[in-house]
Amino acid sequence: MSAQPVTITLTGAGGQIGYAALFRIASGALLGSQQSVRLRLLEVPQGLQAAEGVALELTDCAFPLLHSVDIFTDPNAAFEGASVAFLVGARPRTAGMERADLLQANGGIFGPQGRAINDHADDNIRVIVVGNPANTNALIAQHNAPDVPPERFTALTRLDHNRAIGILAQEARVHVSEINGITVWGNHSATQYPDLSHATISNAPALDTLDPLWARGEYIRRVAQRGAEIINTRGSSSAASAANAAIDHMRDWISGTPQRWTSVALPSDGSYGIPEGIVSSFPARSVDGSWKIVQGLTIDLFSRERIEASVNELLEEHNAVKALGLIPA
Ligand code: NDP
Repeated sequence: MSAQPVTITLTGAGGQIGYAALFRIASGALLGSQQSVRLRLLEVPQGLQAAEGVALELTDCAFPLLHSVDIFTDPNAAFEGASVAFLVGARPRTAGMERADLLQANGGIFGPQGRAINDHADDNIRVIVVGNPANTNALIAQHNAPDVPPERFTALTRLDHNRAIGILAQEARVHVSEINGITVWGNHSATQYPDLSHATISNAPALDTLDPLWARGEYIRRVAQRGAEIINTRGSSSAASAANAAIDHMRDWISGTPQRWTSVALPSDGSYGIPEGIVSSFPARSVDGSWKIVQGLTIDLFSRERIEASVNELLEEHNAVKALGLIPA
């Protein structure tokens, strides 16, 4: 076993997704069976007791890989020495809340967390934002961490990607391992675009065998609205699948995805005409510890219109957080 534990900070540790993620991280699902972990949990005062309960249960698992668990309400302390950060806690939209109010409230969370990461995290820090609106919360954190390379801030669209694979595999009656080449573009919101243009089912182009009306209609709606479907069916929001996707994202980022690409929300470098700087979902591979956007995919008119619709929503959020002074103008 590696002598030095890796420090992992998770915010919103008293919530549902935190509960579904922490035990898997402590058991080795993120960094493997030879790497010990030091967990630093951040909560707001109202969530502190729930996080303390989680820490008691973590102790009761006697995980061989778990070095320690500490709980904080101060982000500066929580991110001290962190090389992996899961930003899960966020301010949910409540009835009657305008978008500006939601962004303002989240700016009050992700701005200070970005500054704390800038000042206290390890130089190797990798950040994934799960708390919604995830893309724009990642943008806010990134702009508040000027000393950290922007590409170290990402947001979760792996859940949408995994949903897109699962739903397609079910429709095609094949195992998920037979599905390849799916991309989720844009925002983690109802405007996201799960794109089958380059997807294959058992190495054959998916669009050659699927009903085009389903592939470019019902399928897109089904993936984008899967969260609502789960709330309606299960009676509460998806937590285990969200935690699983966040772990998939971070594990692949650290360990690499040499063959298949996945979907990752990261600051745009201008690829595919998506304006530089906004945090959008792209097809990406992890190579030597960095996400690389897959280049050269042909984008037809149908896809172009859907990508633009989602990117326009991200631009509106970007302009709104600029106008609110949450990121530099
Ligand atoms: P969850 O753990 O279920 O969700 C946390 C965040 O993840 C929410 O913003 C949620 O967005 C988002 N999310 C992203 N993808 C998904 C998905 N597929 N399914 C469900 N949620 C998704 O929320 P809880 O209310 O159980 O817990 C949140 C915890 O965060 C609380 O304990 C609270 O005290 C804490 N918190 C901590 C903060 C901090 O550490 N500074 C700041 C704010 C809150 P959505 O709301 O859109 O579902």
